[in-house]
Amino acid sequence: MREQIEILVKLQAIDSDIQTVNNRLSGVAGELSALDSELHDFKSSTETMLVTVDELQKNYRSLESDVNLNLSKMASSKGKLSSVKTNKEYQSLLKEIEDIDAINSKLEDKMLEILEQIDQFDSQLQEKNRQFESVKKRVAADKIEIEQAAEADRETLSSLQKDFKTVMATVAPEALKVFTSVRSRVGNLTIAKVENAVCAGCHVNIPPQMYNELQRFESLMYCPHCQRIIYTEL
Ligand SMILES: [Zn+2]
Repeated sequence: MREQIEILVKLQAIDSDIQTVNNRLSGVAGELSALDSELHDFKSSTETMLVTVDELQKNYRSLESDVNLNLSKMASSKGKLSSVKTNKEYQSLLKEIEDIDAINSKLEDKMLEILEQIDQFDSQLQEKNRQFESVKKRVAADKIEIEQAAEADRETLSSLQKDFKTVMATVAPEALKVFTSVRSRVGNLTIAKVENAVCAGCHVNIPPQMYNELQRFESLMYCPHCQRIIYTEL
């Protein structure tokens, strides 16, 4: 029985390696799509800024046309100054010109504010574009690295699967039946080592009587707590 247990331990080691490689491989698609969305998010944050700049430019142009309209109103009022008949009319025209001038000066302040904002966005956009190039390069390099690691993992996996079959062929049919059934139930660590009377599968103590029996390697034994196959120092 000692020899069979040795084979099962070997089989378990290969099985654990297979699970580790499989877990890594199952994360690959997620890692790749995380990189894609990182790039996409970066791009859309730049696009949002472009939309904002576009809106600011529209506002600027609309203020500019208001200012020009006011300037021509002022010019026409100034033109009338020389032809008015009464002082009252003259004063009222002057007042109108002053009011329009005050409005224009406010509009021009707003235009300046907008220009400053556009400038800020422009320099941020330039910085973002520079960053985008380096993010793009890094993402491409990361993707290649992930794909190469995955390719190596697939090769490892296929060789582990071959090893598993080779070792499995040396397990006695009865022991294999037990191993397969426990494996399908516990999912991982089918055969657990018992050290200092503690099962490595569930970390619970094995009864002393059982521990003594275990050291005789007479039959396959199970942990009374987790029902894994157990063995002790070979
Ligand atoms: Zn256990």
